[in-house]
Amino acid sequence: MALVVQKFGGTSVADLDRIRAVAERVKRVRDQGDQVAVVVSAMAGVTNQLVEWVRQLGGATYDRAEYDVVVASGEQVTSGLLALALQALGVPARSFLGWQAPIATDHSHGKARVLATEATPVRQALAHGEVAVLAGFQGVAADGRVTTLGRGGSDTSAVVLAAALGAERCDIFTDVEGVYTTDPRIVAKACKLARITYEEMLEMASLGAKVLETRSVALAMRHGVRVQVLSSFVDRPGTLVVDEGEIVEQNIVSGIAYSRDEAKVTLVGVADQPGVAATIFGSLAEANVNVDMIVQSVSADGRTTDVTFTVSRGDLARAQAVLAGVRAALDYRSLRADAEVVKVSVIGVGMRSHAGTAHLMFKTLAERGINIQAISTSEIKISILIDEAYTELALRALHSAYGLDAV
Ligand code: ASP
Ligand code: MG
Repeated sequence: MALVVQKFGGTSVADLDRIRAVAERVKRVRDQGDQVAVVVSAMAGVTNQLVEWVRQLGGATYDRAEYDVVVASGEQVTSGLLALALQALGVPARSFLGWQAPIATDHSHGKARVLATEATPVRQALAHGEVAVLAGFQGVAADGRVTTLGRGGSDTSAVVLAAALGAERCDIFTDVEGVYTTDPRIVAKACKLARITYEEMLEMASLGAKVLETRSVALAMRHGVRVQVLSSFVDRPGTLVVDEGEIVEQNIVSGIAYSRDEAKVTLVGVADQPGVAATIFGSLAEANVNVDMIVQSVSADGRTTDVTFTVSRGDLARAQAVLAGVRAALDYRSLRADAEVVKVSVIGVGMRSHAGTAHLMFKTLAERGINIQAISTSEIKISILIDEAYTELALRALHSAYGLDAV
């Protein structure tokens, strides 16, 4: 008898018929003799509505603890409804709210970190032959107040529960059939991957692929939880996220991600001397602006240079304001901002042991006349910044260049 955790996202529990379909799916697994713990999201669209109500009533400086009370309610509803749907099929089931599991978190309301869970009450319910249905996305702080884990946080709830229960697998049901080599809406020849490593999935998630929440992947990697991403709308295996050792034939590049949530800032003519970068990036950090890629050109005259970096689009205005504030200290000639850029990343653990991966990327883009504005690399990924207008062309060209096209 195996124990599996199954997590259902918002579209999988979007209405009562979908919830009944989920109950039937859970029952099938249980009929095979396995134990099931389920984690649910709120019905599609509900969390957005709840957040909107908090904004409208609470103003700009709303109480974050009360925000959590409101937005956690979406998952409370679906956990109870799914338990009822299971009972209607003759399956003993009960719901667990975050505080009942309990999922202990810190006090950062709105984006709480999970500290620990033994999930003892959940274990007991499973031992009694019940299906445990945990409301995802929520936890409880030491002072007893309700917390939420940040948008998309029910993936994290599922992985946390799977780790605590020592589950054989954590199935994440969503509205796509798995993890694809790239976005199939843009590249028709994209293929579903049978397996992907934790590290690659982590890069894919943080570089723009929206299929799994980034934090949940990091946790799964740390605790060795085998995750499967699959669709609740079809009956086909999805993508397994596993250790590198479990992958037999490794491509050099496994996937290509992109993010339009990028903006480029260039400081023209800053002094080429110690302390300048520290002032620029120190002031941005103080204002909570996250910087991603950074390029500094060599100075032609030994006195001044240009510094280019990227921030998320939502942070661009704040970054410009911060840099205007330190203009006197930095004495730069001008500031240029460009929000029409996209970051495209090729990802693969295979590039660790392969030369020429970057060269192929640059060559492919050059052949299409696409100019690269910034580059950043890690051991298993290469990211480039290009004009947003070339997104589709770049993705398609790179997808075939790395041999990922479906045949
Ligand atoms: N319902 C929450 C959200 O929409 C959590 C989740 O679905 O993962 O962000
Ligand atoms: Mg989600």
